[in-house]
Amino acid sequence: MCWLEWGRLYEAYHTTAFNPSKVSGEVRKLYGDSYIKNRKGIFEYILGGSLDTKLLEVRIFDEATKKAVYTKQTTEAEKKGISNCPHCALGHDANKSKIWKLADMDADHVAAWSKGGATDMANCEMLCKTHNRAKGNR
Ligand SMILES: [Zn+2]
Repeated sequence: MCWLEWGRLYEAYHTTAFNPSKVSGEVRKLYGDSYIKNRKGIFEYILGGSLDTKLLEVRIFDEATKKAVYTKQTTEAEKKGISNCPHCALGHDANKSKIWKLADMDADHVAAWSKGGATDMANCEMLCKTHNRAKGNR
């Protein structure tokens, strides 16, 4: 990381008290996580209280996983006559039996990544864009 970048991080976070051994332990753990695409974001993620997972670009399922989960969910939903978005299926409006197109859906972690949920097929659920957004960045 260049010094300019350190300067920016210092400006943003120097008023927060950190436990150095805890921080370096967290950094090491995240560097070992193969799902993290943006390693440069690791320090800032931790300094910011390990809240902003966008910095790590980690919550991304690949296209093959999304397609496989979409197909499985849609097949089951069509059999039951319910929406292929599990959240829509629970609702009481017109969308409860709506079959969304793949392009209208986004992948979501069933168990939040920040709580140890993996970025793999078993932990992937496709939600319609509205419900995916409603769940927020977690
Ligand atoms: Zn939905």
